[in-house]
Amino acid sequence: ATFGDLGLAEWAAQTCKELGMSQPTPVQSHCIPKILAGRDVLGLAQTGSGKTAAFALPILHRLAEDPYGVFALVITPTRELAYQLAEQFRALGSSLHLRCTVVVGGMDMLNQAQTLMLRPHVVISTPGRIKVLLEDNPDIPPVFSNTKFLVLDEADRVLDVGFEEELRVVFQCLPKKRQTLLFSATMTSELQTLLELSQNKAYFYEA
Ligand code: AMP
Repeated sequence: ATFGDLGLAEWAAQTCKELGMSQPTPVQSHCIPKILAGRDVLGLAQTGSGKTAAFALPILHRLAEDPYGVFALVITPTRELAYQLAEQFRALGSSLHLRCTVVVGGMDMLNQAQTLMLRPHVVISTPGRIKVLLEDNPDIPPVFSNTKFLVLDEADRVLDVGFEEELRVVFQCLPKKRQTLLFSATMTSELQTLLELSQNKAYFYEA
């Protein structure tokens, strides 16, 4: 199969080609059509499997059709991973006028709040920083009131390290009607619970 066969727009297939991605990896072949079809996804996949493009490509495809507000919020456990995700989003979205922001600790909070007020298309954050921004600035939660996608990257780690309170705050600010995409190296009981809460016929992928 090609990226085009998975239902992605021509520009997206072309970008993949330019980035040297000649054909979809298994996690991409399985998950991209399901995400495009509006389903939640739990993908068990290791780093190096191509999992980032498996969620970034369908998000960018949808975004190109109807860019509105903060389109996707991606939560990942560390700053380092947040910057790596942003790099992939920017590369895959290079033919769009993509506004992608990283919101992590160690950087000026006021600046980050102001950047969020400009409603970037994709926000990539660690759980701690997004929680503080949502709680300390009454203007920030409305920025996420139309968000279409929530992604938990390395979800087992995000859910494991005591980020319950952080995620509760995040979930509260997002609309109920959205897609949730979970990518994880391992299966956990917390992921099982999230899967069961899915309103969008969650699809479970395991390599
Ligand atoms: P990830 O699993 O998301 O950390 O991706 C690992 C690396 O694989 C990244 O550097 C991607 O650029 C690369 N990659 C992702 N999808 C493909 C593909 N279909 N063909 C070749 N390389 C890919």
